[in-house]
Amino acid sequence: MKQILFVAAEGLPYVKSGGLADVIGSLPKALQHQGAEVRVIIPLYLQIAKKHRKEFKFVVEYTVNINYQEVPVRVYQGEHQGITYYFVEHQGYFERGVLYGYDDDGERFAYFQKAVLELLNQLDYFPDILHCHDWHTGMIPVMCKENYQNDKRYHNIYHVYTIHNLAYQGNFSRDMLDSCLGLDMSLYDNGNVRFDTGISFMKSGIVYADQVTTVSPNYAQEILTSEYGEHLEHVLQMRAHNLTGIVNGIDTDEWNPKDDKFIPCHYNKVSVFKCKSENKLALQKELGLKQDKDIFLLGLVTRLTDQKGLNLVLEQMKWMIEANMQVVILGSGDGYIEDEFRAVEAGNKGKFVFYCGYNEILAHQIYAASDGFLMPSRFEPCGISQLISLRYGTLPLVRETGGLKDTVIPYNEFTGEGTGFSFANFSGWEMMECIHRALYVYYEKPKAFRQLMRQAMNVDVSWEVSAKEYMQLYNQK
Ligand code: ADP
Repeated sequence: MKQILFVAAEGLPYVKSGGLADVIGSLPKALQHQGAEVRVIIPLYLQIAKKHRKEFKFVVEYTVNINYQEVPVRVYQGEHQGITYYFVEHQGYFERGVLYGYDDDGERFAYFQKAVLELLNQLDYFPDILHCHDWHTGMIPVMCKENYQNDKRYHNIYHVYTIHNLAYQGNFSRDMLDSCLGLDMSLYDNGNVRFDTGISFMKSGIVYADQVTTVSPNYAQEILTSEYGEHLEHVLQMRAHNLTGIVNGIDTDEWNPKDDKFIPCHYNKVSVFKCKSENKLALQKELGLKQDKDIFLLGLVTRLTDQKGLNLVLEQMKWMIEANMQVVILGSGDGYIEDEFRAVEAGNKGKFVFYCGYNEILAHQIYAASDGFLMPSRFEPCGISQLISLRYGTLPLVRETGGLKDTVIPYNEFTGEGTGFSFANFSGWEMMECIHRALYVYYEKPKAFRQLMRQAMNVDVSWEVSAKEYMQLYNQK
């Protein structure tokens, strides 16, 4: 049985800031179904709820060297749906107001990665595969190969590194190589870990892993170009023969309109039309929108960052408000976007709602109540939200980029095929045109719209197929 250790900065059901946590919380289960044994390790953040912590048990205590000092590590263990989780505890590093975004992030995650590698020794647990995710874990293949050269147990490990978002690279001062990572400055001089005049955790993972993956086939192609490569396209081109795009799935138990505990009316493909109206009425009441079961409801659940194309939404706001629809936005992030949406809401009560914050329950309710779900992303490695939307019969309206292009089939008015609507260029006008197409089909061709909803719900958004692809990759060891 293949032993796999996932190393990541966040994971459900414990802690989440975005799609990474969805993947870490659901892919291991799917891999276990394929016959692998998967464990997961993440930092023990303040944000991990007390109810979970009560169930953790202490495993081991040791130290790692950071800034030429021995720093204590305490590791706890938990279990969720048959998966063993390890948690690295350090109050100073991880018990803070938010997960990331601190000046010492480099040091925090250097500590985490060192603690992970030493844990293998402490537990005498050496998995076949170390599967690292995103920049927070990119130095693991480097340290494993460079710092444990003479230890066969470490040497036998096969490294898979998954890029969930190339835009976040973990670039830090080169002094860290010596002071925090215990690595030789020659790795900077020979270019392997160097980015500009510093070091890049993301680049290092790409260079040192045995296999590099990203979260959709289309994004795997896009990141080889200067438009999407975030200045790492040349490194990725060099690794292109070991770069695979595997599309994400979702946890179909957690996201299931048939028994979702957060929505008032449960539904399947047959009852979706009737039930969506009921869910819509309930959400409209809760959020202070005008109650109208027949009006088109457009939903957005998103981090409010430049990546997500919200400036297109702001640019077209006047026309969106004029269109025959209601809009509900759930999200938090950049202050100026929050302020703009607040202002729009103030002037358009009953038609437009902005809920500022992170709210899991409301997210479920929006997916279940909306007719369309808007994702006008500038870039989108995979996207989880459109997969959830498909599962809930909520038609995604997406820009044809990254994984959105791989997972949403645009409506073809001649054949009736499709699972959503899409537009090609990053343009407010094209986005608005796409919204109008969806509105036209919704109001003028309700039969076709309903057929699209059924087709969306027929899409397999589970991990089944993708888990098999990961297994094939692991088996290349
Ligand atoms: P990203 O990882 O870039 O944020 P994804 O589409 O891959 O985007 O994943 C976003 C996930 O986070 C989805 O599960 C979405 O429902 C959830 N999400 C985003 N913002 C919020 C929010 N404010 N409240 C609740 N869930 C959110």
